[in-house]
Amino acid sequence: MTTDLKIGLFKKFVRYNRIMFALLIFLALFVRGSGLTKSNFTLFYYVATGLLMLIIDEIIFSNSIKKIELNNGKVPTLIMRIRTVLFILMLSLGSVFAEIPGVFLVCIFFECMYLVLQDIIFSDIFNSFSNEFRLVGTMGVASFILFFLQYRHDVEGAWFIVFVVASVIVLLLLYVIYEVYFATVKDMDDNYNKLYFKNTDLMAENEKLVEFREKVEKVNSEINYQKINLTKANSDLENSNTESRSLIEVMKYFSASFDVPKNVHIMIENIMNIKKAGAVGFYIDKDIYMNDDPLIDVISVNEVSANIIKQDILNIYNLIVNRNSTEPLILCENYDFKYPFLSGGNICNAVAFPAYENENVYGVMVVSSSKYEFFQNGYSFYESSVMDFTSALISDRLYLKTEEMAKKDGLTKIFNRIYYNQFYPELMDEVLATGEKLTVAMMDIDHFKSVNDTYGHLAGDEVIKMVASVDAKYAKKYNGKAVRFGGEEFLLILKGIGVDEAYNILDEMHKEIIDTVVEFEDLKIQVNVSMGLASYPETCNEIGEVVDKSDQALYYSKEHGRGRITIDGREEE
Ligand code: GH3
Ligand code: MG
Ligand code: MG
Repeated sequence: MTTDLKIGLFKKFVRYNRIMFALLIFLALFVRGSGLTKSNFTLFYYVATGLLMLIIDEIIFSNSIKKIELNNGKVPTLIMRIRTVLFILMLSLGSVFAEIPGVFLVCIFFECMYLVLQDIIFSDIFNSFSNEFRLVGTMGVASFILFFLQYRHDVEGAWFIVFVVASVIVLLLLYVIYEVYFATVKDMDDNYNKLYFKNTDLMAENEKLVEFREKVEKVNSEINYQKINLTKANSDLENSNTESRSLIEVMKYFSASFDVPKNVHIMIENIMNIKKAGAVGFYIDKDIYMNDDPLIDVISVNEVSANIIKQDILNIYNLIVNRNSTEPLILCENYDFKYPFLSGGNICNAVAFPAYENENVYGVMVVSSSKYEFFQNGYSFYESSVMDFTSALISDRLYLKTEEMAKKDGLTKIFNRIYYNQFYPELMDEVLATGEKLTVAMMDIDHFKSVNDTYGHLAGDEVIKMVASVDAKYAKKYNGKAVRFGGEEFLLILKGIGVDEAYNILDEMHKEIIDTVVEFEDLKIQVNVSMGLASYPETCNEIGEVVDKSDQALYYSKEHGRGRITIDGREEE
């Protein structure tokens, strides 16, 4: 039986008890008021008994209901039993002492029967001992009480027998109704239990299914996650593959080219293409690859960023050099500028990568972008690019040095005859193509044999070096070329300069040579030179004649007193 049903029954009993005890009180008042009895004791006794029983039941039942609610159906059956016995005694003992009319006695008897039936129902609910046994026992008690009452009040014998039999029939009838009712309730209860357990099983099954579904969902989401990871790894791999291939292509280019500025350009172009950077700038300090001036090259998606990098790259280089570290330097990270460079060009991220050789920084590469988190895949591609470039630079420099050595004369460090033979024809072609002027001055040290003879060959060498260095100085100044043409014969080749301007240059140069004192050991040596000048197209019609004509003019100087400058075709001036 469910807790709800038990509580329901208890509540019903409470209501029926109230009616029952109210009826008892009403009956006591009625029999006294109507004059069926003259006894005030009878009135008092049954009113008091009715009230007392009502109060006791209210207390016991309300406590029992609470206990059923709390303890899942355990009710103090002993208290119930005591209460039943007590009530029957109270009701029947009253009739022993009080003056009771026959009708009232019958009512009291039925009240006792009602209490007995109630007790039987309790026993059923809470499973104490056999109801039939109790029924028979109660019948015995009731018969005893009635016998006693009959003796006490002298009830007529025949009436008494009819009364007892009627009572038993009513009692049995009530009992049968109760049995049917209880059996129905029990059956429903069983069905309920069966359904309940079935439901519990189903719920357990359902729970298992839910658990299983959750597991499947979890595995599924893990698989999805791994799929995303794999896709990312795959695209990362593809990217790094593309990067590696591009680095190999650039390396191939480097290995075939000794042109450092071109190599710089190829490298930064590759970075722009592969990384889709906003701008890439490269700076190389002077005297790194036989370069007299620093090199700056910038490629950018817009002019503004290019100019900003060009403007700041030297300061960034100085910062890197003074920093004493070859690690990349973050200049700006997601709009957070760490140094006062590169502002104003919509730059979101910028990093400076030192270019270094044996820990010595020789340059810097600056990479910038307007994209957020631009460097999130790290710096390795940029660092590899710069390192590849550096190793190419080292071999380039070796090559350039060797080439320079082949071009230049060992003693004077100006161009030698071999290189002259190579570049001069190209120069003539160039001049013919552009329509420029070409002027050649040839000079020879006067009486050099006697310098050698007087001061020795080593002193002679110093004199040759002095004249060559003055030649080189003027060549550089006028963007020309100085060549050691023979032992102590030199050329000054001037492109784009006419005969009169060249004469003035030679005149100045001549004076400088005369005035220069060569100091060797304790010696102080001064020499003079003879010069000859020829120019295309002013003195020569054919460009191929210029060197010969300058030689002839020199010869004229030698023949006519030495230490002078002769212009081809103007010997008499
Ligand atoms: P001139 O005024 O006619 O030119 O008379 P010169 O004595 O200078 O005659 P020339 O130009 O014929 O002399 C060339 C000399 O230069 C011959 C050679 O011994 C000397 N010479 C050539 N190369 C070198 C060199 O590398 N070092 C030294 N010390 N002498 C050299
Ligand atoms: Mg000479
Ligand atoms: Mg000579």
